Order: sequence, then C-alpha cells, then structure tokens
Amino acid sequence: MVSPFVYQSHPARVVFGPGSLGTLAEEIGRLGAQRAFVLSTPDQAGVASDLVARLGDLACGSFTGARMHTPVDVTLAAMADVTAAGADCLVAVGGGSTIGLAKAIALRTDLPQIAIPTTYAGSEATAIIGQTEDGIKTTQTSLRVLPEVILYDVDLTSSLPVAISVVSALNAIAHSVEGLYSQQANPVISLMAQEGIRALAAALPRLVRDPHDLAARSDALYGAWLCGTTLGAVGMALHHKLCHTLGGTFDLPHAQTHAVILPHALAYNASYAPDAIARIEAALGRRDAPLALHNLAQALGAPVSLKELGMPRDGLDRVVELTLAKPYWNPAPLEARRLKALLERAWEGLPPAAD
Ligand code: NAD
Repeated sequence: MVSPFVYQSHPARVVFGPGSLGTLAEEIGRLGAQRAFVLSTPDQAGVASDLVARLGDLACGSFTGARMHTPVDVTLAAMADVTAAGADCLVAVGGGSTIGLAKAIALRTDLPQIAIPTTYAGSEATAIIGQTEDGIKTTQTSLRVLPEVILYDVDLTSSLPVAISVVSALNAIAHSVEGLYSQQANPVISLMAQEGIRALAAALPRLVRDPHDLAARSDALYGAWLCGTTLGAVGMALHHKLCHTLGGTFDLPHAQTHAVILPHALAYNASYAPDAIARIEAALGRRDAPLALHNLAQALGAPVSLKELGMPRDGLDRVVELTLAKPYWNPAPLEARRLKALLERAWEGLPPAAD
C-alpha cells in the first residue's frame, strides 16, 4: 500500500546532452534576456572567457572569483560588476561554488540564472543557498535562488580530475540516500533517488578507468541531476548534519567528507529505514547497503577516514555535541553514544557498523 505523502515539485527546465552548450544563446533568448553575465572560479576562468567569446554581443561581462561556501564579500564584489555591466541574466559555469555565487546574486537581484554544472554536487537543482560571513555559514531556502535553466553539457565534465569526480559523485549519492529515508520522502522523488544512485554507481568504475569515457560521464551527470533534484525536493537527515558540522567547524573538504561519512550514517539509520535500504541495494546490485557503499568508495580510491582529511580525533566529542544541539530530523533517534561510535569508526576508516 502506498503511504500518504506530499509531493512538491520545483519549476525546472533541463537541457541535457553533449554539445548542449551550443543552445546557450537560444536559452538566454528564451528568458527574454540580452545581456548575460558569466560567473566562474579562478580555476575555470578559461571556460568563462570561452563562453563570453562564444556569446559575442549577448555577453556583457564576467567575474571569475567564485569561492567555496559563498563568502558574502565575494558576492558583493561580483554584484558590483554585474550592476555596472547592466546584466539581465546570469550564466554560472562550474561546480557548487560558482552556482552558489549565482544564487547569492539572484537572491539579492532576482536576475534569472542559467546554471551549467561541471561537477556532480547538485546545487543547480535546489532552492537552497548557503552563505558565509565572518566565518559563519547560514543556509536558507528561497525560490528566488533556483536557476531557471540547467544546461548539462557532458563535454565540460571530462576535465574534472578523477579523484574529484569520485568524491563529487559520492556527495551526490548521499543526497539520494538521505532522500530515500527523508521525512518528506515520496514515491516520485524515491524513483529519482534510486535511479540517481544506480546511474552514478554504474558510471563511476568506468569513469575511473577512463576519465574521458563520454558515455560514463553522461551517465554520471544524469545521475547527478537526479540526486540534486532529490536534495532540492526533500529534507536531509543525520548524514548531511554531520557533514555540515564537520565542514563548518573543522573546515574539512566538502565532497570528501560526504564520501567518508555516508556508509556510517546509513548504517546508523539502516534498521529504521528498511525501504530505503532495499532501494539502495537494488540500485547498487549489492546486499548490505552500508558496506557496499564503503567498498565502492574504497575501490574507487576515495578517502575512507576522517583521519586522512585532517580531522583531529579530540574534536569528535564536539561534533556529537553540535549535532545534538541543533538536530535535523532523522529516522533513527539521535543518541550521543551511537553518534560517537559512528564518528570513531569514520575517523579510523573502519567498515560501517550499526553500533
Ligand atoms: P567546487 O564548485 O568548489 O569545485 C571544486 C574545484 O573544481 C573548483 O576549483 C572548480 O573550478 C573546479 N572544477 C569544477 N568543475 C571542473 C571541471 N569540470 N574541470 C576542472 N575543474 C573543475 O566544488 P563542488 O563540490 O561542486 O561544490 C561545493 C560547494 O557547493 C560547497 O560550497 C557546497 O556547500 C555547495 N553546495 C551547495 C548545494 C546547494 O544546494 N546549495 C548543493 C551541493 C553543494
């Protein structure tokens, strides 16, 4: 029997396929815009300048200083350039950092956005924006920040180094894992979440063997879209809370921290989320979903311990404290003893266990 549910969808226009960058001018026109402002990180300044050249008169400028965690001073600097250029739409080419900058500008200006993701983080499909000011990261949800168009061009993802591709994909899988046992889980999003895990898990070993395998890259990007949509549609739980705490308080790297924590958070919740476990096992084609995710991460060469990410062992108690102080809803009750055991195992890089 189908359990009662609420399903809320976000408006989305998704253009997916190799070479789809070729439709950018048309997509700008569809928005009724004529002056596009291009955003990127310093690493991807070359991609941004190619886009500006490709757009010709449709481009009015660029800002290539996007940074992780959307610092407000960077947003204000970019906004000054956007305003001076008289932009009427934003084009963000890059990962979650660049897309976060476009969202932060859209929050303040309501300019329409075209997101061109080049990682698997999934921010393009959510109405969530995290911003950092004076070392404090705050998150809010607003439809103003949801990109109007997502343009997925697999050709742009081939340059993503294998190690980053792997952790970025595990970050995406984490969205779907938590989406499956979310408090707002619903049948439509669960279909997307399961398919997202399947597509990414199947693509990853091929992508590690050959980072330029376009079929594998396409499958991974498709999975990333489904996982990002899941993140945008339903609430997250313990795994995301732990990762936000570890990232925010101990400055651990975003995607790598997700890769390490995921099997352990799933083991913590497993006996409270049997339907999610069954779907994840079906998606992976393996029994024992937490161990299967741990083995997958290990086989792909992803980090498996907090220790190797630079987490001080004596900080684990603080993580437990912060997790309990402002908890997210979670299927399994949050207990200090179990949380500490989870973190100890993750710190050591041991296989996941329920207790
Ligand atoms: P990122 O955007 O910081 O990218 C990492 C580095 O890789 C950057 O230097 C970037 O320029 C480079 N890069 C990206 N794509 C590349 C490519 N194809 N080839 C070569 N280099 C490439 O990393 P991320 O993991 O995508 O994003 C992390 C940020 O996104 C965090 O701040 C996180 O909080 C945020 N995020 C937000 C949401 C949301 O819904 N608001 C969701 C997921 C992540």
